Amino acid sequence: MHKSVSLHTLGCKLNYSETSTLASRFSAGGFELREFGERSDIFVLNTCSVTDNADKECRQIIRSVLNSNPDTYIIVTGCYAQLQPDEISAIHGVDLILGSNEKFKLFDYAENFEKKDLSCVFTSPINEITEFDYAYSSDVESRTRAFLKIQDGCDYNCSFCTIPMARGGSRSLELSKVIDNAKKLLDLGYKEMVLTGVNTGDYMYKLGTDKFKLIDVLNELDKLDIPRIRISSIEPNLLTDDIIQLVSSSEKFCKHFHIPLQSGDVEILKLMRRRYNRDQYEELIHKLNSAIPKLGIGVDVIVGFPGETEERFENTFMFLELLPVSYLHVFSYSERRNTHAITLPGRVDTSERKKRSRILRELSNKKKLQFYSKNHGNSHNVLFETIKDDDHIYGFTENYIKVRVPARPELENTIVPFTITRTESYNYAEGEAG
Ligand code: SF4
Repeated sequence: MHKSVSLHTLGCKLNYSETSTLASRFSAGGFELREFGERSDIFVLNTCSVTDNADKECRQIIRSVLNSNPDTYIIVTGCYAQLQPDEISAIHGVDLILGSNEKFKLFDYAENFEKKDLSCVFTSPINEITEFDYAYSSDVESRTRAFLKIQDGCDYNCSFCTIPMARGGSRSLELSKVIDNAKKLLDLGYKEMVLTGVNTGDYMYKLGTDKFKLIDVLNELDKLDIPRIRISSIEPNLLTDDIIQLVSSSEKFCKHFHIPLQSGDVEILKLMRRRYNRDQYEELIHKLNSAIPKLGIGVDVIVGFPGETEERFENTFMFLELLPVSYLHVFSYSERRNTHAITLPGRVDTSERKKRSRILRELSNKKKLQFYSKNHGNSHNVLFETIKDDDHIYGFTENYIKVRVPARPELENTIVPFTITRTESYNYAEGEAG
């Protein structure tokens, strides 16, 4: 009888994309795939370690799977497994812990998935990671968008971040393989491809004396028959004029960028060791808005970084309030072992972090509504997703406004013209499709 397996992912889009690749490999090996939560012979958890809470959640999930099904062969991989394998192996019942370099060699390490008394840990020092395990996957929620991984790891040294320690240095997928994967996804019927990576803008592939950058990937993808291409997130210092020019002139590229800022305070930005200053960021946002009308711009921001006094937080708030962007992704700072930030003075109390986070989330909602109103009455193209409840179908405009209309099955996985007529909720806009 075939063994069954269930897989679960925590964290970023890249992790989802990689879990999907693991699931395909299990399926190709004759294993029966089961939903997370169902009883299975094998359980794989692809972990995240971006905050303390993420670590805690990983441990809770492992314990709860073991409680309900003590015989399951448990494999834990991903960033938390790379960074803290000892914490995971201390949980009795975990069988296999695989670091970032070992994740895709799972079948070499699992020894028929037979449970033993002790956990086996396989991790490599992060500076030895040079391999690129390429992955592409569907958006687990919508199944209309696919994530195309083109880059992994990061060479930057932001003072709060453990990702370079968990995923290693920056490396990129050969351009011809990116194009092959994009073609496969097209054949599978996906209408939108979201380019993903840890530091996507840092894409660089050397072939002989040739060097290919992100703009080369984008130009090649532009030649394919892909209805929509979205760049998931890009560091501001890497968003170059040639990329802006291409996104502005090509019908295929979504008029949407997600550009991490992290802080609007000059000094905090320096302490974060980001590679731009506040003025440069502001200049970029204005340049983008003049080059691409109705551009959707999302911004990552961290509150409660060490040394963020009331006044410094206020600087961030005022900067963001005036900045012409459409939404914010707000994170509370979380102390991470072995980072420079953890050594900095000026700890911000947890309750204060929560308060600041709430204030910026409210600002984000306000900005979303303003952006929706600016787009009121305009014609867009919406890619509709699968119907999740009986009443409505949801989709996204090219500039990343979530919209909904009463459910119509014929709209699923299609791109249709859409006019926004109601913008009362920041959760979605409403209008007329087709
Ligand atoms: S750019 Fe900075 S925040 Fe982003 S992954 Fe690299 S080190 Fe981390």
